[in-house]
Amino acid sequence: MGIKDILCEKCNGKNIKKDGVRETKNRGEVQTYKCKDCSHRFSIDDGFWKMKNHEGKITASMKYVLCWNVIKENTRAFTNVCT
Ligand SMILES: [Zn+2]
Repeated sequence: MGIKDILCEKCNGKNIKKDGVRETKNRGEVQTYKCKDCSHRFSIDDGFWKMKNHEGKITASMKYVLCWNVIKENTRAFTNVCT
């Protein structure tokens, strides 16, 4: 997954840039991103994109939002995360 595939989780903007790395207890270093449009900062669990059955670290509502982003973009490569 490249940065071009990432949409802002707040405004769905595409102008995302990398915004450093955050240390977490469970997952080690996590890349964080910043939206240039609304300045919203967020991170994406890499595992989420690979695993259908993630363990509750990403809520169902977040998954739903990501699915909607996928549908909007018609990026069929990621449609399997929604099933
Ligand atoms: Zn945004």
